[in-house]
Amino acid sequence: MKYISTRGQVEPISFKDAVMMGMASDGGLLIPESFPSVADQLEDWKNLSFQEIAYKVFSLYIDDIPSNDLKTLVDKSYSSFEHDLVTPVAKLSKLGILELFHGPTLAFKDVALQFLGNLFEYILNERNGQLNILGATSGDTGSAAIQGVKGKDNINIFIMHPDGKTSPLQALQMTSVLEKNVFNIAVEGSFDDCQGIMKETFADLDFKGKYNLGAVNSVNWARILAQTVYYFHAYNQVAEQGEKISFSVPTGNFGDIFAGYIAKSMGLPIDKLILATNENDILARFFNSGVYERGNVNFTISPAMDIQIASNFERFLYFLVEKNPAKIREAMEQFKSTGKVIIEDKFMANNDCFLSAASGTERTLATIKKYWSEENYLLDPHTAVGVDVAESLKLDSKVVCLSTAHPAKFPDAIQNATGEDLAKHPTLEALKGAETRCHKASSDINEIQAYLADNALS
Ligand SMILES: *Cc1c(COP(=O)(O)O)cnc(C)c1O
Repeated sequence: MKYISTRGQVEPISFKDAVMMGMASDGGLLIPESFPSVADQLEDWKNLSFQEIAYKVFSLYIDDIPSNDLKTLVDKSYSSFEHDLVTPVAKLSKLGILELFHGPTLAFKDVALQFLGNLFEYILNERNGQLNILGATSGDTGSAAIQGVKGKDNINIFIMHPDGKTSPLQALQMTSVLEKNVFNIAVEGSFDDCQGIMKETFADLDFKGKYNLGAVNSVNWARILAQTVYYFHAYNQVAEQGEKISFSVPTGNFGDIFAGYIAKSMGLPIDKLILATNENDILARFFNSGVYERGNVNFTISPAMDIQIASNFERFLYFLVEKNPAKIREAMEQFKSTGKVIIEDKFMANNDCFLSAASGTERTLATIKKYWSEENYLLDPHTAVGVDVAESLKLDSKVVCLSTAHPAKFPDAIQNATGEDLAKHPTLEALKGAETRCHKASSDINEIQAYLADNALS
């Protein structure tokens, strides 16, 4: 399988090169040249484990890693999960909850970042290379990325977070990791400042080249690929063979739900993909109107979805506009300069599976309360957005809602919703009072680049 760019200006490249490239060098996103169909194999996959499905799916997209090595990578990546099924489905009375939070940081990002960390290590060993990962986080991505690469040779990781503006628990999940290749930077400023420094540093091609900078954000194709696996695995847990089911996905950057679109494109019988947003509803507005228009970011109780530009959306748009790179270049340039782009009805008519709606803070809290009192099941606020939107759409097909985080990561929201201090997890309890290490810096890019230069592998 070769990988091409949504903007059409990258020669087809191999899987390993796509992983190392991250964002496509022409500014677009990398996608596989085709989606192989597995429709006629699904019956045989029925009783496979998560790891076996992962191996089958990955083999279709990765032809430059020998199969034994790939098997080892898969087994190693998912041995850090606490549940035997890796991603089990909890069957509630009206819908299934696909629990993606059994990894080391209790958020779904572990499913992809455990694998990506091991992939980086494997490729760097083979190529005798070194990598300095630079990232900015408002919470979950940073700790999952750190857990994915901590202690690995040939990789240093630098994660910026806005000092005092993540939850104390989220900061602790990062700063309590003491391995010497992990560098947390608490930046005096906002998440936007952190992200601005990151983007500007990646755009400085001399600096990027000199220090072999790499990215772990969800534009990396390997992250999307890893996430397709649990759609197949969840299907096996809840559906009759051939039955069409729907998935509801609490969405921010469109990575998780795009993986569902790939699973559907490969022949998994998916009826609808429900794109659930909080008050930051740029994607819900798009699917209902064809207008993709930036708004102001609202800060909510589901912070991982507080996003106004969805970095993976371009991948879907490419298929919606019938794989036309010139059209993508035009649309993305227009969005960049005006903050708005309108997709014609003839292209919107190509969408036969996405449904979208927004939830809100009151409804999210009420959903958490309802599921706790009626089903004795505690939803985290992101998952509650997905459940609320799924319920409001009243589909005929069975619905599985992706649960993207463990409720214990968001104790304040749970307390607010239920009036009780219910959300606990031993992994998080163990962090309290832990030793921490963190570098404090101003939001001056020169200061941060100097810190990077001092501590980078080179
Ligand atoms: C990252 C994240 C999301 C959003 O996922 P995308 O792939 O960015 O759409 C939702 N919930 C939680 C808890 C997350 O960490």
